[in-house]
Amino acid sequence: MSLNDFVLALDQGTTSSRAILFDQEGLAQASAQQVLPQIFPGPGLVEHDAMQIWRDTLATARGAMEQAGIGAKRIAGIGVTNQRETTVIWRRDTGQPIHNAIVWQDRRTADLCENLRRAGHDELIRERTGLIVDPYFSATKIAWLLENVAGARGAAEAGELAFGTIDSWLLWNLTAGPAGAKAVHATDATNASRSMLFDIHRQCWDEDLCQLLDIPPVLLPEVRDCAADFGHTAKELFGAPIAIAGMAGDQQAATIGQACFKPGMIKSTYGTGCFVMLNTGAEAVRSRNRMLTTIAYRLDGRTTYALEGSIFVAGAAMQWLRDGLKLIDAAPDSEALASGLESTDGVVMVPAFTGLGAPYWDADARGAIVGLTRDSSIAQIVRAGLEAVCYQTRDLLLAMQRDAAAINDLALDVLRVDGGMVENNWLMQFLADILDVTVDRPAVTETTALGVAYLAGLQTGLYPSTEAIAAQWQRQASFTPNMTADRRRQLYGAWCEAVARVRTVV
Ligand code: ADP
Repeated sequence: MSLNDFVLALDQGTTSSRAILFDQEGLAQASAQQVLPQIFPGPGLVEHDAMQIWRDTLATARGAMEQAGIGAKRIAGIGVTNQRETTVIWRRDTGQPIHNAIVWQDRRTADLCENLRRAGHDELIRERTGLIVDPYFSATKIAWLLENVAGARGAAEAGELAFGTIDSWLLWNLTAGPAGAKAVHATDATNASRSMLFDIHRQCWDEDLCQLLDIPPVLLPEVRDCAADFGHTAKELFGAPIAIAGMAGDQQAATIGQACFKPGMIKSTYGTGCFVMLNTGAEAVRSRNRMLTTIAYRLDGRTTYALEGSIFVAGAAMQWLRDGLKLIDAAPDSEALASGLESTDGVVMVPAFTGLGAPYWDADARGAIVGLTRDSSIAQIVRAGLEAVCYQTRDLLLAMQRDAAAINDLALDVLRVDGGMVENNWLMQFLADILDVTVDRPAVTETTALGVAYLAGLQTGLYPSTEAIAAQWQRQASFTPNMTADRRRQLYGAWCEAVARVRTVV
């Protein structure tokens, strides 16, 4: 008898595709990764080769299984987590994409979004989807593809095409047998909630929004719970079929991986960008401070909502200091430089390279370094880059606190963190100081993959309950605030002044 004692997490991110095998204790036993090339066809345009995403995903899944010496029969289920919003349309008969995937960062639909706002549709969109009208989300990308790819509109109306974010695209390919006979066209509620077409209250595709953007509903996948029966992998792929049992967008998966299952629990992921998610329970809190209202997860038909804030540039500022300005050799060098100083002596960096995200949503703002003097140093500039991550997190937390307080007075006293930047101890301490909140770093920082492994495990019985998952979460380090209120006020005040200088809309 062979035990089904592993789950396979497929983590398809913006810059890489990864597969990680987790055991019953939630420990990673094997992993494989491939870097995903970025396609930049012009200013503000970002695409991916959807076929390559599928090939890489398959190769890494096989790679992780090989590394662990484990066959398909040992795997209880697969979980799929993904870069969100990135849009693919493919032919149902051949499985061929009609165009490269349009990546979430792509700004080609900025004018279309502007037109929607001018026509006064932003209120309806906000009401139904919880989102702010922005090219970031999938809906306008779908509209662009139907408008600009020859023959696409007719084929879409005839039901010959399928739309999906990367989760659906991978699911289709994982389940397609020979000639795609059994391919499953589905997504989960978290990914659907980022499309700008999904009514997060009624939990269905919104006919009015489809009509507004001229998107035929036959294009759209079926929406399922995050832990659900998504079908089985085609037999040829791994030697035997494996159940696909879990699905969630990357930030939502990280929220689950951090076991933020109770209202008021909050996680922040610090990678290239930074994404903060606050669990608001069964209540879809309408933000008055320009946060997004989104679906954290849906289990057994019950939806848990979140407020989300995103910062476009976090670790990317370290990449710029390293590759652009060549001030440091490697991102981790920033820690020693920052901790060697008492302060930046008034130097503040606003890394608004691609505009400012939440809560400002100022697409035309551009970055600045202010407070420079003749003796400003490399260390001060690097430290200012790290400090900016913390000030921006404070911007988000203050906005969320105001939103949450209006509803049910959620106490935000601990922040759970993950992502590449959280290895930087100086950064974590400064974050706790500036937020005046305890910052907890978990033992497992692969929280995105872990989160979707948990979902697949919940569905297949490998993990009995969310309570059992929460009990598995372990803290590796805790950073407690250690800064006077005066100093915090002074530093954050300087940040707010610097932001005011770069904003183009107030
Ligand atoms: P992503 O998943 O977005 O590709 P990761 O979570 O792998 O990103 O984090 C990588 C990012 O974190 C990079 O932008 C890198 O510059 C930054 N980073 C990694 N280690 C450190 C460190 N010790 N201090 C500061 N920044 C770091």
